[in-house]
Amino acid sequence: MSHTRADFDQYMVPNYAPAAFVPVRGAGSRVWDQADRQYVDLTGGIAVNALGHCHPALVAALNEQGSKLWHLSNAFTNEPALDLAQKLVKATFADRVFFCNSGAEANEAALKLARRAAIERFGDKKHKVLSALNSFHGRTFFTVCVGGQPKYSDGFGPKPAGIEYFEYNNLDSLSALIDDETACVIIEPIQGEGGVVPATAAFIAGVRALCDKHHAFLIFDEVQSGAGRTGSLYAYQEYGVSPDILTSAKGIGGGFPLGCMLTTSDIAKHLAVGTHGTTYGGNPLACAIGNALLDVVNTATVLDGVKAKRELFVAAIAKINAQYSVFDEVRGMGLLIGAELKPAFAGKAKDLLNLAVKEGLMILMAGPNVIRFAPSLVIADEDIREGMQRFERAVAAFVTA
Ligand SMILES: *Cc1c(COP(=O)(O)O)cnc(C)c1O
Repeated sequence: MSHTRADFDQYMVPNYAPAAFVPVRGAGSRVWDQADRQYVDLTGGIAVNALGHCHPALVAALNEQGSKLWHLSNAFTNEPALDLAQKLVKATFADRVFFCNSGAEANEAALKLARRAAIERFGDKKHKVLSALNSFHGRTFFTVCVGGQPKYSDGFGPKPAGIEYFEYNNLDSLSALIDDETACVIIEPIQGEGGVVPATAAFIAGVRALCDKHHAFLIFDEVQSGAGRTGSLYAYQEYGVSPDILTSAKGIGGGFPLGCMLTTSDIAKHLAVGTHGTTYGGNPLACAIGNALLDVVNTATVLDGVKAKRELFVAAIAKINAQYSVFDEVRGMGLLIGAELKPAFAGKAKDLLNLAVKEGLMILMAGPNVIRFAPSLVIADEDIREGMQRFERAVAAFVTA
């Protein structure tokens, strides 16, 4: 054991506050730390490890591609990227795919594309970006400013102009802002970081209609809700409303950095040669893993399993809540689950997270009042049972703390 948690404070930039233990290996939905203590992982690397840790199909793809070809640059195309792009086109509304390495990069591409296409079609004035309050779209400066949480974007100097905010799930609020100068509206079908808040079906349909009326592009940020998380490959399929541009990252790489932006050929043509790019985007190693992930996830077995496993979680949380009365509401879709603490426990999600660690359980928060579960989509039922037993012990300690 050559390093300790204390080394983090000595060597790393202090922008994170990691847990006290240091994980060293994982398998499925279990993780072990330096002392070989075992944890049930219900975080899924924040909705990233869609197939848990070291899934055999992903390890095989990594090893196979890893000894074949890693990286070329975008001066050359490659088979894994073409394969993955074709699969994504077949599985969604989209005709064209742009690959990148993260959610923020996917959203950056989406926003740049939307503005570019709108300006080329209607002139310079059509550049307004409308985004929901409390939304999260990444941490590059453009995406963090588009995100509706000033605490993340303030303090970095002048912000890009032309961004305005409406209330999520409030169509009147969007209706009051949108006009013929609006280039695009960007929303998360389920606000993840903002507290696991799903959009209502009426809101999604209303947003689509308003965008159509004003020739504004509709961008769905599915970085957290995508790649099978809801029990459909993408959440828009649950709503039956297609966007013009969709962004995906997190789960699509299963733990390897991979992001993508999907769109129609009519819109895609505005990203002509030289208008946008990224060095690593669409590299064969990442795309080989993305292919393996999609082959496993985009099947009835896994997607139906997500819905069945959600029921196990919801029932277990309800049982715990019947005894301890800590949660107001349990929400989300599929295996993106948020449990909002009652007002008496407001602001204390982090305390519950810390107590969970003591019980050998990794869980997430989504803001100070919401406990979030985003486990592997193929988590074993036994791991859910064991995880929820540990969660119950953490909740018992929490209410008496
Ligand atoms: C995590 C997240 C992002 C940012 O993704 P990164 O890979 O961290 O850049 C963007 N949008 C949503 C909805 C997210 O959950």
